[in-house]
Amino acid sequence: MSAPLPFLPFALPEIGDEEIAEVVDTLKSGWVTTGPKTRRFEEDFTAFLGEASLQSLAVNSATAGLHLALEALGIGPGDEVITTTHTFTATAEVVRYLGADVVLVDIDPATMCIDPARVEAAITPRTKAIVPVHYAGLAADMESLLAIAARHGLKVVEDAAHALPCTSGGRLIGTLASDATVFSFYANKTITTGEGGMVVTRHAELAKRMKVMRLHGMSRDAFDRFTATVPSWYYEIVAPGFKYNLTDIAAALGIHQLKRLRGFQQRRVELAAQLDDGLAGLPLTLPPHAPRGDLHAWHLYVVRLDDNAPVDRNRFIERLYAAGIGCSVHYIPLHLQPYWRDRYGLAAAMFPHSQRAYERMVSLPLYTRMSDGDVRRVCDAVRAALS
Ligand SMILES: *Cc1c(COP(=O)(O)O)cnc(C)c1O
Repeated sequence: MSAPLPFLPFALPEIGDEEIAEVVDTLKSGWVTTGPKTRRFEEDFTAFLGEASLQSLAVNSATAGLHLALEALGIGPGDEVITTTHTFTATAEVVRYLGADVVLVDIDPATMCIDPARVEAAITPRTKAIVPVHYAGLAADMESLLAIAARHGLKVVEDAAHALPCTSGGRLIGTLASDATVFSFYANKTITTGEGGMVVTRHAELAKRMKVMRLHGMSRDAFDRFTATVPSWYYEIVAPGFKYNLTDIAAALGIHQLKRLRGFQQRRVELAAQLDDGLAGLPLTLPPHAPRGDLHAWHLYVVRLDDNAPVDRNRFIERLYAAGIGCSVHYIPLHLQPYWRDRYGLAAAMFPHSQRAYERMVSLPLYTRMSDGDVRRVCDAVRAALS
């Protein structure tokens, strides 16, 4: 009998020698906080998106970036921001930091992204902004959402934590007509800096406010002062800002992760295709694909158990774990979380599509360090769990 295979984790980052060497170089350089590497990472990010008119601002998380963007747009008490119930709490919590209210709406059951018709139905005179999420790495219906926003004079901040790289109507997420787009470099995202994020905007005023608020509301940042050739001890505090800057240690990782992103993306597409093949014919709804000509970032590979599946979702996950396969659920919808449920008097019946998806969904492993053999193992374990 052969030895049992090691546990296959749900997610693993892929960190190479170049990332490690760049971190070591940073540590030896004497400049470990926000400095030249962060600036380079920002420039490289804008170059990746391919539009010089965009500004990329590095932050220490996507949560920080979402907060900065909404703050810079002037969202505050009395305002409402519409987002999807089918997301991580970070998308919505930042609205509460600002004293504004969150209006959660249901998803389109085909894409599991926010349903534009529900968004439009939820608009009130207090609505100020829409925060779509590109769920799993598939773009939300941005054409409809941007049209609704334009019609009602609303701001749009994209939660693009899953969406690097991903396109909508052939254009990269980050280059659309939204006010700001926020990417995450958390450990399990498509590139990682450990913790980190990037806010992208084409609006100079917005970028200016976010830069100031990113670092204590200071009129000049530490790196500007350090590199000035004239005495530069003077600064002004113009607002009670935050501490949201990215370190050069983290940016060192990001510079090389970004260089590898196209390769990572291709591998993710291959892995998703292998999972599609290996899981065909089972009582599962496989994840939706991007429309022809568009990119799916394949951050997550989410299957849903069909009505005729012989086990329920929880039992299915137990069986996968017993077979040594890590998996997860994205997400427990916000309407079920005590804080959101109780604050806004929410119930499952108000979000039938998100609720139904939640009860049947499982995220299977999909990451670049998986081998083709790992994919076969996942598919075999899924088949066995459904027998
Ligand atoms: C990961 C994630 C975030 C938060 O990203 P951080 O960088 O960890 O702050 C926000 N929204 C969604 C949808 C996410 O998946």
